[in-house]
Amino acid sequence: MLCQVCRKKVRTDKNIFNLFSPETHHICEYCCQKYPLLLRIDVLPIEEGILLVHLLSSRHYSLNPIAFMSFLKPYYIDFLKHHQGKVLLVFDILDDNTLALLDSLKFGDIYFVSLYENIEGKGEKL
Ligand SMILES: [Zn+2]
Repeated sequence: MLCQVCRKKVRTDKNIFNLFSPETHHICEYCCQKYPLLLRIDVLPIEEGILLVHLLSSRHYSLNPIAFMSFLKPYYIDFLKHHQGKVLLVFDILDDNTLALLDSLKFGDIYFVSLYENIEGKGEKL
């Protein structure tokens, strides 16, 4: 599989236990060090619930969102184990329009995972 940032082949260490397992990483080791994950959790009040926002990186990266797909699995596991009553939404970008839409839908509690946010005046439009 090719790295979604530099387009070089992603190489992982092979041993007897993962010899036949498929390559699932979308970012190579060099690009992962160059663009590290900047994990952040925000809890925002919305109509009839809370919005739990998990952000994976900074908006200054401007990377292909597919590069960070390998890092979504822990969020799925956390959602299934601890937040099953909420609504799970996974977006590439969290922007003002999405935030206003989520506020007006009245879904209740929302577990939101996004690569990065593109919000200027955060929380002022709610
Ligand atoms: Zn790369």
